[in-house]
Amino acid sequence: MEEELKTLAKMQALDDQIGRYRILQKELPKQLNEIIESVEEATANLLAVETERAEINKKQRSVEMEIKQMQEQSKKYSAQLTEIKNNKEYKALNSEIAYIKDKISDNESSLLELMELENEIKEKIATAKSVLEKAEALKKEKESDLREQIASLDTKIEEVRTQRNDLARTLPVSLVKYYGNMIKHKQNQAVAYTREGSCGACGFVIRQQMRIELQLRRKIIYCENCGRILMNRFEDKTDDASS
Ligand SMILES: [Zn+2]
Repeated sequence: MEEELKTLAKMQALDDQIGRYRILQKELPKQLNEIIESVEEATANLLAVETERAEINKKQRSVEMEIKQMQEQSKKYSAQLTEIKNNKEYKALNSEIAYIKDKISDNESSLLELMELENEIKEKIATAKSVLEKAEALKKEKESDLREQIASLDTKIEEVRTQRNDLARTLPVSLVKYYGNMIKHKQNQAVAYTREGSCGACGFVIRQQMRIELQLRRKIIYCENCGRILMNRFEDKTDDASS
C-alpha cells in the first residue's frame, strides 16, 4: 500500500507541474502582448508629438511669411510717404504704417511663443524616443524567448502527462478514476498532505484514529471534508517533482 501512496504522491507532483505550466500558458501570452503593445503605444505617442511639432513649424512659417509681407508693405508705404504733399493723405498713410508696425510686433510675439512651444515639444519628442527605444530593446530581448516558451508548453505538458499516466497504469482503475475526478473538480489537487493534524488542502482537523492510520499507511485515507486523498508527507521527497 505504501507504494501506491507513493505513486499517488508522484502523480500529484506531476499534476502540480502541469498546473504550473498551465499558469504559464495564461501568463506568458499576456507578457508577450504587453511587450508588443508597449512598443505600439510608444510608436503612436512619438508620431503624435512629431505631428504636433510639424504643426507648430507650419504655423511658424506662416507667421514668418506674414511678417515679411507686412515689412515689405511698410517699406512701400514709407517710400510713398515722401511723395505725398496732401496733409490728410499723409496722416492716413502714416497711421496705416503705424498699424502695420503694431501687427508686425504682435506677430513677432506669437513667433516667440511658438518657439517656446517648439522647445517644449522637442523635449517631449526626446522623451518619446527614449521610451520607444527602451520598449523596442525589451521586445528584442524577450519576444523570441517568450514565443519559444509558449510554443513549447504544450509539448512539456504532454510529456508530464505521459509520465503521470504511466504511473497511473500501476494503480487500480477505480483509484485512478477517483484521483482524476479530484484533479478535475478540486483545483488540480487530488492528494493532500497532513499539516499540524489537519488536511493541508482544506484545513479540516483529522480525527485521532485517522492520524494513526495515516502513520501506518496501510490503506487509502480520504479527507472527511474535501474528499482528497490524505497522507503524511514522505521523508524521501517522493512528492517533489524536481527530484
Ligand atoms: Zn480536506
